[in-house]
Amino acid sequence: MDSVVERQSAGLDELEKVARHDLARLNYPPANWVPEKTGPDGRPVLDVLIVGAGMCGQTAGWGLMREGIRNIRVIERNRHGQEGPWNTTARMPTLRSPKHLTGPDLGVPALTFRAWYEAQHGAEGWEKLYKIPRLDWLAYLLWVRKVVDLKVENGVSLLKVEAAGDFLRASLSTGETILVRKIVLANGRDGSGGFRWPSFPSFASEDPARTARVYHTLEEIDFTAFKGKRLGILGVLATAIDNACTALEAGAREAICYARRPHLPQVNKSKGVSFPGFQRGQGMLDDDWRWKIYTYMLAAGSPPPHESVLRAQRLPGFAFRFAEPWLDIVIDADGVTVKTAKTTECFDAVLIGTGFDIDLSRRPELASFAANITLWADRRAPDEAQANAEAARYPYLGPGFELIEKMPGRTPHMSDIHLFNWGSILSHGALAGDIPGLFVGATRLVQSISHALFREDVETHVQNMYAQEDPELAPTDYFVPRDRRSGTL
Ligand SMILES: Cc1cc2nc3c(=O)[nH]c(=O)nc-3n(C[C@H](O)[C@H](O)[C@H](O)COP(=O)(O)OP(=O)(O)OC[C@H]3O[C@@H](n4cnc5c(N)ncnc54)[C@H](O)[C@@H]3O)c2cc1C
Repeated sequence: MDSVVERQSAGLDELEKVARHDLARLNYPPANWVPEKTGPDGRPVLDVLIVGAGMCGQTAGWGLMREGIRNIRVIERNRHGQEGPWNTTARMPTLRSPKHLTGPDLGVPALTFRAWYEAQHGAEGWEKLYKIPRLDWLAYLLWVRKVVDLKVENGVSLLKVEAAGDFLRASLSTGETILVRKIVLANGRDGSGGFRWPSFPSFASEDPARTARVYHTLEEIDFTAFKGKRLGILGVLATAIDNACTALEAGAREAICYARRPHLPQVNKSKGVSFPGFQRGQGMLDDDWRWKIYTYMLAAGSPPPHESVLRAQRLPGFAFRFAEPWLDIVIDADGVTVKTAKTTECFDAVLIGTGFDIDLSRRPELASFAANITLWADRRAPDEAQANAEAARYPYLGPGFELIEKMPGRTPHMSDIHLFNWGSILSHGALAGDIPGLFVGATRLVQSISHALFREDVETHVQNMYAQEDPELAPTDYFVPRDRRSGTL
């Protein structure tokens, strides 16, 4: 794991002043407008709990603050500086995205990555930059968080959510149980499921014998342990290749990536749909269109970036094996035997690079809701759902990323849970997971929460409007006290 991510420089200090001044000019943060609620115990109820302070969680938090929704908490299970994959399980030197992307800045120029980078390296440095170094992205995110004064409680996990009277009850790892009106699950790529493990006759992912023999590529791994070793890797996409390269660079003798497919996927379809019309419009389409688009995307797959493949090509000991699926793996005393469709191989260790699965029944936080969450399977004909089993497992979300009950009334307050993670792509497109769609996604989420909180309290807001007294004309000769006014008071 890499450390020391936060940067300090005169240029950044200067930019921070500019950004803070910009924020002040935008009247940030506006006053909180949400009426306070109290629970049955007389304690104040939290308006929004954001779970996860990665890219999506922190942008949602800053968006809510900017909207004047300030009775919020942002919790993050990891330590400060270890949010998201960037200095833990991401193993590529640079981001895969192009450098010009915006998102975490929510439209404030001084908060863009470019501003952050130029403040340290000048305009020329920006011109020379090819792609964003991975740890720079993390340092940048932490800097934005600091400048917008978003408080994050690190080392705090959400354990459980349940309905509790008029609210949701969240149990936290601190031992607290808190009543909340809305929960945003910004808990990352695995936040709607977990690691995807292939099914083999002789292997179970929960078998303790897999320690130091079978890894998932998205786990934390000590690559120095692979010095001189021969590794088999299941998968040929970005993460699988990055893991193979990291192992070879750490001294592994051989790293072979296997695929069922005959060659690498060639076209990154998500690049072609990365424009505002698609990003804003996809979630507004009817079910047939959304299903058509994402079942196609899922089937098409996404090629590894050419930088990853070039990195691999240069390393002696690297190889691809296409059209050679694994049929079984057996953990031995001194390694792992892999039976492929073509042969049997012995490795010192194997890495499973098959990504994440979407399956809300695997999320312990959602156990009391899971069985009643509407999935895309519930909205498609059985044969279509069967033919697209992965797509069918995605939750069918409402317009503000909220979960929807399968049987209305059975699980109260389910729609107060907003799923702002990868599980939302079938319903909304990639607005809560990748950088390009973040601006659209965070804005949509915030507006929806704002609208819902306002709507729930509309009576109070209207009473306040009736009761409002603003003696605008008091300094003039034409002021009339309230008890002597005619017409609307
Ligand atoms: C290896 C890798 C490389 C990527 N590269 C790119 C790229 O180049 N370009 C791009 O656009 N996208 C990329 N992505 C995709 C995406 O941008 C990242 O996954 C990004 O981190 C998503 O942000 P997030 O906030 O949704 O999730 P995360 O950054 O993963 O943040 C989620 C946070 O939630 C916390 N959390 C989880 N559960 C709980 C809980 N119960 N209680 C409290 N906290 C919890 C986690 O600790 C984590 O910090 C990459 C993803 C990976 C995995």
